[in-house]
Amino acid sequence: MLSTRDRTVVSGVFLAFLLILVLLWHQQFRRDRVTEESTSKTIEGLGFVSNLKLTILYDNNPYNSSVTAAWGFSCLIQTEATTVLFDTGGDGHILLENMARLGIDASKVDVVVLSHIHSDHVGGLAAILEKNNRMRMCLPSSFADWFKLDIKRYRCEVIEVSNGTKISKGVATTGELNRGIKEQAVLLNTQKGLIVITGCAHPGIVNIARIAKELTGTSIHLIIGGFHMAGLSAGKISSIIEGIKSLGVEQVGPCHCSGDLARKMFKDAYGEKYVDTGVGRIIELKTC
Ligand SMILES: [Zn+2]
Ligand SMILES: [Zn+2]
Repeated sequence: MLSTRDRTVVSGVFLAFLLILVLLWHQQFRRDRVTEESTSKTIEGLGFVSNLKLTILYDNNPYNSSVTAAWGFSCLIQTEATTVLFDTGGDGHILLENMARLGIDASKVDVVVLSHIHSDHVGGLAAILEKNNRMRMCLPSSFADWFKLDIKRYRCEVIEVSNGTKISKGVATTGELNRGIKEQAVLLNTQKGLIVITGCAHPGIVNIARIAKELTGTSIHLIIGGFHMAGLSAGKISSIIEGIKSLGVEQVGPCHCSGDLARKMFKDAYGEKYVDTGVGRIIELKTC
C-alpha cells in the first residue's frame, strides 16, 4: 500500500507528465499554424529566367561516368543573371573534383543556398568557402547558432530566410518549411512554368509542390532533386505520385533520397516526361 506522501508524489509526477504532453502538443500546433502563415504570402516581382543550365554536381545515383557518385546532393544553377550553388553534397573533396571535371570554376558562384542542415547537403560547404568567400549564403533561419558562427569566419554575407524570398531575377527560395525537418527549396520561374529543386524534401514533396505554386501563382514545369521516398511501400508511393500529378506537375526528375522503387514508379507514371537524373546530369532550358 502507498502512503499518503507516496500518493502525493505519484500524482505530482503524473500531473507534470500531463503538463509536458500539453506543452508539446501546443508547440506542434503553433508550428503547423506558422506553416500555414508562411505559405499565405506570395513572392512579388519575381520575373523570369530566360537561359538556364542545371548541373547535378553531387548525387548518389550515377549518370555521367566521368564524375564520382556519392551519398548527398548538390546542383549548380546558372542563369543569365546569377550562379547559384544549391547544397554542397557530403564531401568537399568529391564536390570540388566533380566541379573541376565538369569545367566549373568555384570562384564564379554568386550565391550558396543550403536546403537543410544534414551533412549530406552541407558537408562540402567549407571546401567551397575556402575557394570563394565572396558568395552570399542563404540559410534557413532555424540553422544552429554554431553553424552560423562557423560561417562568419569566412566573412561572407549571410541571408537568413524564413518566408518565400526572391534571390535574383526569376530565382527564389520557398523559405524554410516547417513540417518535419526544416528545409527550403529553390524555385526558378521560366516561361514554361516553375522549376522546383529540392534537397531531401523532408517537409514532403507534395507539400513543397503545393507551396511552390501558392508562393508564385505559377504552374510547375519540373521538380528535380531528392524526394525522400526511399523505403516507402508501393501503395504510399502511388498516392504521392497521384498527389504530384493532381497538382499539374508536368515533369519529374527524382534523385538522391528518392529511392529506386519511387524512381521506377515515377518513370512508369510519367513516361517521356520523366527526367533521368544522377551525378553529372546537365539540363538546359532556353526560352528566348
Ligand atoms: Zn536530410
Ligand atoms: Zn539528403
